[in-house]
This record gives sequence, structure tokens and C-alpha cells, in this order.
Amino acid sequence: GVVEEGWSESDGKWERAAEMVKELEEKCGTPVWKLRQVADAMVAEMNAGLASDGGSKLKMLISYVDSLPTGEEKGLYYALDLGGTNFRVLRVHLGGKEKGIIKREFEEVSIPPHLMTGSSNELFDFIAMALAKFVATEGEDSHLFPGRQRELGFTFSFPVRQSSIASGTLIKWTKGFSIEDAVGEDVVSELSKAMERVGLDMRVAALVNDTIGTLAGGRYNDPDVIAAVILGTGTNAAYVEQIHAIPKWHGPLPKSGEMVINTEWGNFQSSHLPLTEYDQTLDDESLNPGEQTYEKLISGMYLGEIVRIVLLRMAEELLIFGDIVPSKLKIPFILRTPDMSAMHHDTSSDLTVVGKRLGDILEISDTSLRMRKVVVDLCDIVATRGARLAAAGIFGILKKLGRDTLRDGEKQRSVIALDGGLFEHYTKFRNCMEATLRELLGPEVAENMVIVLSNDGSGIGASLLAASHSQYLETE
Ligand code: BGC
Ligand code: MG
Repeated sequence: GVVEEGWSESDGKWERAAEMVKELEEKCGTPVWKLRQVADAMVAEMNAGLASDGGSKLKMLISYVDSLPTGEEKGLYYALDLGGTNFRVLRVHLGGKEKGIIKREFEEVSIPPHLMTGSSNELFDFIAMALAKFVATEGEDSHLFPGRQRELGFTFSFPVRQSSIASGTLIKWTKGFSIEDAVGEDVVSELSKAMERVGLDMRVAALVNDTIGTLAGGRYNDPDVIAAVILGTGTNAAYVEQIHAIPKWHGPLPKSGEMVINTEWGNFQSSHLPLTEYDQTLDDESLNPGEQTYEKLISGMYLGEIVRIVLLRMAEELLIFGDIVPSKLKIPFILRTPDMSAMHHDTSSDLTVVGKRLGDILEISDTSLRMRKVVVDLCDIVATRGARLAAAGIFGILKKLGRDTLRDGEKQRSVIALDGGLFEHYTKFRNCMEATLRELLGPEVAENMVIVLSNDGSGIGASLLAASHSQYLETE
């Protein structure tokens, strides 16, 4: 019998699979010169966003935070952190310079998925109810509120156009949220109305993005913190800008001469970004097509999904899983980034973890070692691209601040507070991101650049900002 070249049982499809992997790797390539282009484009967009509202895809939102925590903050404050699949309620007892954080308590509540795409009232009632329950556990701390209203720092991790420290309208939802009747509404008054409905007497003293909260929490611990970055379900960055570098600011001149800016870099877009047909598919099928392009390349909500889309294409075109395309593989978001990370970190010689996850999640059993290696390669390509692009963004911010070079040989310490599950738990992603940033900065500058994991900085940060914007501040 004659066996056709390249199609002898296994060989052909695996050769083509290897070609597809190689092609993907090329399209996802992020050589340093390209990352420099991305960073330069980021700086240009930052400037355009600071010049005028609507001037750029980078919204460069004004936070109304013009002074960061000093350590003097005192009192018992609440915080609410909403933005991922969980939300958290916190109670933080601040003791000022001498005592620091006396006590912190928190509770995490997972948001029922139907509330993420339902109505505004339903979501905020659910949150207010959880908050009321938490307040009820205050115990003897209640004596700290003699005829005094409880105050809250509200961390709301979506783009908001603020009109003061404690008010602002939702520009759009991102990540897994889509609640139409909340768009354009003041999220503080939505929350306040819900608190009233459940009989909770509490005032929102500060409305902050999670990046702003993380920056505040980071600064509380280290005076050299100049920026905060979130690498979690979504991605974003905030940094301290000079007020005179913000042409669109027409308000009073803050004493500090500074203003914290929420870049909303997740929405960054540039022809320099290495986008593929798979990214296009992801975007088309997303809740927010055409939006959050940079976020869709980098953040935890999307990395596993990109891998799934590539695998599905391979299953359909090359039949790498046999004649029938595994039905689970067709389910969007079934392959989560934590699963991807587990497979990516598999060090066993026969890739047992990969085999197990493919079996458990996608119901693909009896995978060959060759198949498992392809999966690991895909995880590596997608994670590496995301991590290197994230590093380019951070480099862009340092560039914007003139901290990408040594000024007059002077050593200037730059600390960046980082938070988010992707950074915290996906080791290869984190290592690659940090190595790339060092590569971009060069050894001398990198030496003075520090990244600190600011685990839950945003919750603490929100309570600190609630304290510094308390209605009782003047009278104390
Ligand atoms: C939101 C940002 C947020 C980031 C990280 C993005 O999707 O637009 O406001 O800071 O996620 O949570
Ligand atoms: Mg968070």
C-alpha cells in the first residue's frame, strides 16, 4: 500500500500543529524594539488623554485624590471593594503614626453571576445587604460611633468620571460585568440609595478605583510609591502626576501640586500591539467588542480563553483531538487562567497535570505527550506576550515620569505597588514581566526600581482615603 507523504497516521497533523504553534509564536512576538514602540505609543496616548476629555482611548481619569496617606489617619472606617467575581467588605481601625493599623477585618462574598448582568438595583441591594450584615458584627467597636455616622471608602474597579472625591458616573462596565441601567449613573448615589433601602446609615467618604486604592495603600507603607498597577481579572494603572501636566484640569490648584491619575490603560490600543486572528475572535465574542484591547491581551479574565480559542481552532482544522471536536472546548471561558497557569507550571516529565486538567475540564482523555506539549507551548506563548506587554506599559509610565533614565547620575528610587491574582499566583507571568521590565530599563535604572506586592492594598487604601476625607476631620 502507498502511504501519502505527510499523512501517515500521526505525522501530518502534528507537523501542522507544530507549524501553527510556530506561526502563533511569530505573530505574538514581542521583541524589545516592539515593546519600546508600545511604550512610546502609551506615553503619547497618556499625553493626549491628559490634554482633553475624549482626547485618547486612554481616559486618564482624574481621581480627585491630590494627597496620599501620611500615616496620620485615625479612626474606624469601612471599605467596600467591588470589581471582580468577589467583593469584599472591610473594617479597618487606623491608629495614626504611632499605632498604625490597629485592626483589620474583612469578609469576602462571591457575586452570584446573574447579578453581574442584571439590574443596578439588584446588584447594589445585594452589596448593601452584605455590608449591613458585616456592620452588625462590629461588637464593642460600636462605642466609636457615638452619634457619629459610619463612613466608607468605596473601591469600584471600573472606569468612572468623577466630579468629586465622593461622586462619579460610570462610563462603562468591563470584565464580566454588563448592567446597562447603571451606565451613566452616579455609583455613589446608587450605593447610597441601596444602603437606605436596607436601613444602613453610612456615608461614602471616598469613591476610588482599585488602582487608586492600591496606590494609597502602597504609599502608606512606603513613601517612594509613585504608581500602582493591577494585574488581575482586569488590568489598569494609576500614578501621581504633576497638576501642571494636566491641561484638562480646570479646578483649583491643589496644595500638593499633584493629582493621582487613573489611566484606564486596559482600553489602550495601538497598531504596535501584536494582535492575531484569535484575539479578533475573542473580541468579537466578548461582552464589549472593540473595547479594552490591551486588557484582552494581558489580564486574567482572558489569557485562558485565548488558549481555548487556539485549541478549538486546532481541533477543528487539524482534528488533533480526533474526528469529533470535544464539545466542552466550545464553551467560552471554560478554560480559566488558573488552569492555564497550573498546566504551564507542570514540571513532570509526562506532563501529568496537563493531562489531568485536559481530562477534568475539557473531558479530553488519553492525550499523548505530544499533545500535552503543544498545550504547554500555547500557554507559554500567550502568557509571555501578556507579561511582556504589561512590562511595556509600566515602562511607559516610568518614561512619562522621566524615571526611565538616571537623572544626572542621581539614584532615584521608584516603587510600584502591584496587586491582582494574575501577578500574585501566576509565577511564570510575574517572572517574565519583571525580567522584561529590567530588560527595558537596563541594569542601572532597574536597580532602583522596586515592585512590591500590595496584597489587598486597595481595600486598606480606600479606608485610608475615607479617613482623610472624613466629614468629621475639621472638628477633631
Ligand atoms: C477596569 C479598571 C480596573 C481594572 C482592574 C479594568 O477592567 O476598567 O477600572 O482598575 O480592570 O481591576
Ligand atoms: Mg481587586
